[in-house]
Order: sequence, then structure tokens, then C-alpha cells
Amino acid sequence: MRKACRISANALKAAGEAVRPGATTADVDRAAREYILSQDARPGFLHLYGFPKSACISVNEEVIHGIPSKNRVLREGDIVSIDLGAVYRGFNGDTAATFACGEISEAARALCDTTRESLYKALEQCVAGNRLGDIGSAVSTYCEARGYGVVREYTGHGVGAQLHEDPSIPNYGKPGRGLRLLPGMTIAVEPMITQKDPAVKTLSNGWTVVTLDGGLAAHYEHTVAITPHGECEILTLPD
Ligand code: MG
Repeated sequence: MRKACRISANALKAAGEAVRPGATTADVDRAAREYILSQDARPGFLHLYGFPKSACISVNEEVIHGIPSKNRVLREGDIVSIDLGAVYRGFNGDTAATFACGEISEAARALCDTTRESLYKALEQCVAGNRLGDIGSAVSTYCEARGYGVVREYTGHGVGAQLHEDPSIPNYGKPGRGLRLLPGMTIAVEPMITQKDPAVKTLSNGWTVVTLDGGLAAHYEHTVAITPHGECEILTLPD
């Protein structure tokens, strides 16, 4: 898991470095795929559930599951959410972040900052003995107090031999409720936060999830382990 997650994090970094005005989302996807393959790993998202590419790349009002395309040219001011994973020796990493394409608006920057901060608030709760509701409420409390929306329809998840394992890890919940965290668990925590209303819909391509109101969305994700000492170890950190 450590190695799979390290490769995933380095791939995310490589993909993020490919985000610039004039690049296509296919260029960004290729940067991720080439790095993963160079590490004797394989892209965990490629062909999973029929997804056609190595990374999900979601621009502006797209929340998750955007399909990379050579026809989607990034422009100055876009925010670009990249979600990807690598499989190494049968284990999955899963990580995401939202990147700025050139200069972005103050509003877009604030949304990204808040989403990233909410992930770290959630990770503070990822210790043995806490419950899933502690994770979810950390995200929703932080983001909703700042006027943002928390997407309900998609969640974090267990991760291991499969990319998506039990349990589901919602970005909302009641403190002290839900499954208890135990040493040895590996989970993906991933707030998906909207500028305004959190309602979403799926485009006719069957994949891309967008905000219903057209507002911006941001997405950050780490895979973490609950250590034998009950602490949170972030696995998806780059070199
Ligand atoms: Mg995930």
C-alpha cells in the first residue's frame, strides 16, 4: 500500500505539473500514465468499470469523473481536479487534488484552499477509536461554515486490493456515529466541495458529474492508514 500510494502521489504531482494554459486534459492524463508505467505499476482507473482513461480530470463545474480528451483545451483561470491511482503488486493507491491553470480567481482559490483544509481536518479524525461520523462531520462543519456545499452523492471509501472497498466514507455525518476506525485500516478520504449548491448531475456521457447550478467544484483526496499505534499515516505523499 505504501509503494502503490507513493507512486500515485508522484503521478498526481506529474499530472499537476502538466496543467497549463493550452494543454489538453489528454496531455495531463498522459503525464500521469507515463509516470505510473515507468514505476512498474499500472493505472488503477484505466478500464475500471469501463472508464477509458488513466485519470479522472474534471474542470471548473465538473466535480469528478471527467474524461480526459484531446479536445478539452485548458485555459487560464480554470481549476482542474485530477483524481488517479496506481496499482502496485496488487494494491491500490487513490489520490486527488485540484490544480490552478495559470492565474485563477480569488473565489476559485478560496474554494480550493477550503477543500484542501477540510481534508486535513478530516484526517485529524482518522485515529483508532474514532468513528466514520467524526470524519464526515469534520468536513461538512468546516466547509458549510464557510458557505460551501458538500456533495452527498459520492463518498470516500476503503481501499486495498480493490480500489473501492467498504466502508463508504461520507463527507457528512454525526460525531461519534458510524463504524469505528481500527489499526490496519486503509481508507481514502475525499471531500468534494462546491462553491454554491451541492446538487450534482451526471452528463449524458454517463461519467462526468457536474454541479447543477454551474458553480465551481474542488476535490482533494488522500489514502491513509490507521497505524498499529492507532495514528493516521498519510500514504499518498510524493517523494
Ligand atoms: Mg477515491
